[in-house]
Amino acid sequence: MPVTPPAAPADAGVPPKPRADLPPDFDALLRQDPEVAGILLAESGRQSSGLQLIAAENFTSPAVLAALGSPLANKYAEGYPGARHHGGCEQADAAERVAVRRATTLFGAEHANVQPHSGSAAVLAAYAALLRPGDTVLAMGLPYGGHLTHGAPGNFSGRWFEFAGYGVDPDSGLIDYSQVRALARARRPKAVVCGSISYPRHPDYAAFREIADEVGAYLIADAAHPMGLIAGGAAPSPVPYADVVCATTHKVLRGPRGGMILCGAELAGRIDRAVFPFTQGGAQMHTVAAKAVAFGEAATPAYAVYAHQVVAHARVLAAGLEAEGFGVTTDGTDTHLVVVDPAPLGVDGRTARDRLLAAGMVLDTCALPHGDTRGLRLGTAAVTTQGMDEADMARIAALFGAAVREGDEAGRLRAEVRELAERNPPYPG
Ligand SMILES: *Cc1c(COP(=O)(O)O)cnc(C)c1O
Repeated sequence: MPVTPPAAPADAGVPPKPRADLPPDFDALLRQDPEVAGILLAESGRQSSGLQLIAAENFTSPAVLAALGSPLANKYAEGYPGARHHGGCEQADAAERVAVRRATTLFGAEHANVQPHSGSAAVLAAYAALLRPGDTVLAMGLPYGGHLTHGAPGNFSGRWFEFAGYGVDPDSGLIDYSQVRALARARRPKAVVCGSISYPRHPDYAAFREIADEVGAYLIADAAHPMGLIAGGAAPSPVPYADVVCATTHKVLRGPRGGMILCGAELAGRIDRAVFPFTQGGAQMHTVAAKAVAFGEAATPAYAVYAHQVVAHARVLAAGLEAEGFGVTTDGTDTHLVVVDPAPLGVDGRTARDRLLAAGMVLDTCALPHGDTRGLRLGTAAVTTQGMDEADMARIAALFGAAVREGDEAGRLRAEVRELAERNPPYPG
């Protein structure tokens, strides 16, 4: 039965028909609770009528959404398959076993824990497994692209551990491994963390391993961003090098919102106990099932093609933005991430982001290697899932430049962005 949308904001682009991103019984929700249903419809319209360039976002498949909306959402399942604190866990156990088997196969790891509720929860559990409060940890400094869990003062990490932060070379934007080594020798960390929210190049995992070994530290790879590229063979894997790999499942990997941890057999027990019962209670079994679906999708040849396209698209976007006059950090990208400095256009980062948002291009500001100003961070994971191609990336770069330079008073850019997005619906049909 077709959905009749309730009153929604005029600009919401409310779709007239049932869509693959709304559950089949959406019209029941609409009848019972038009207030919330209207919000979901408007969000669906927002996502499909603009360009979603937030580097940490993607569009999960209808199959992943179906698992998220499944009866496993009702199930309590503290513990691990075969050792639960609740009864009735046969199907929960089966779902988790499938997810673990697919994750270990996909990433070539001895052990996987698929229960962390988020990327931050995965990092918390990794620290809990390997460290004691007060220990020193060496990670990328927050002003250079370190994540909140890498020592932010308002985060548990900054409160409970002593963080030393490495940076990037201010000119090249690249990690300076001699600086990392010098800091490791001076600070003798218990763990070295590699991984960032805005580094557009591959970390040299072998170099990090060597540095960690030199000072007897664990190596934790926080691969939340590149994990999908790794799954698709479009980025090198930290699994052979790191003691523990933390990741999210919802970024390029295109699964449900959540986290995961990979490690060798010798740390498996410590990691599992650090997730449950140390930092979490019952696992979210609908999310675990959805992770299994996403790992299954990520193991297909089509996903490998996708992962390589994501990188190719980011390179086209980076070149296009350079031609538009933006400063591009590290002179390009190896990943889905592009970080640009709008200062050469005479516009600061926040103004640029607001102008882009007004034109329908959604993205974040982020730190820049040389410090004081803020840059713009874009990613190509979502627009590539939508089926956009290299010509579309060049078009996005041109729209991007125009919006930052001139703003969009007349709404001409917004109309073009809408047309481009609607020609490539994230959930066709
Ligand atoms: C996204 C991200 C996280 C945290 O993920 P959440 O699911 O938002 O908690 C942790 N570390 C890095 C490097 C990330 O990019």
